[in-house]
Amino acid sequence: MENNISILGAKKRIALIAHDNKKYDLMEWAKFNRHILAEHTVLATGTTGKLLEENLGIEIVKLQSGPLGGDQQIGAKIAEGDVDFVIFFWDPLEPQPHDPDVKALLRIAVVWNIPMACNRASADFLFTSHLMDQEYPRILPNYNLYRERVLGNKVPNKDEANDIEPIPEVFLEG
Ligand code: PGA
Repeated sequence: MENNISILGAKKRIALIAHDNKKYDLMEWAKFNRHILAEHTVLATGTTGKLLEENLGIEIVKLQSGPLGGDQQIGAKIAEGDVDFVIFFWDPLEPQPHDPDVKALLRIAVVWNIPMACNRASADFLFTSHLMDQEYPRILPNYNLYRERVLGNKVPNKDEANDIEPIPEVFLEG
């Protein structure tokens, strides 16, 4: 199967997110790495972004707060090619009101082969990589095969669709 290459630029668009119990951890880590973050574009969910701006004094693109849709915004930006790096300190010990959104974000980052760190040690390893300030040819699976998949008998084809019984009018009346 042929893969596609998508270039991650030298200046990366980095999304930072921390659950409440992990915000202190992320602020400490971000302060230590301020000089690196300042060279890239940083986006964040609302509360995390506000704290980052206060602590780092650098411009942060602030999205909605996580439980209000911020995680989904970051996921959408990944799918649209507008975010290319994720640092997400999520809390493994407490359920979150937006757990489905968190799972969706983790999933979409894997779908698009986005570098992602979910704890401090991984974030340290990523940020000390020589690839941080270089272009990186990111390999993407060939999703055209998925887009063009044959659905077989799961959906009616055009001719079969004409044979489907119409919905009785009684159900259609207001
Ligand atoms: P917050 O959202 O930065 O607005 O707190 C983070 C999250 O819980 O996803």
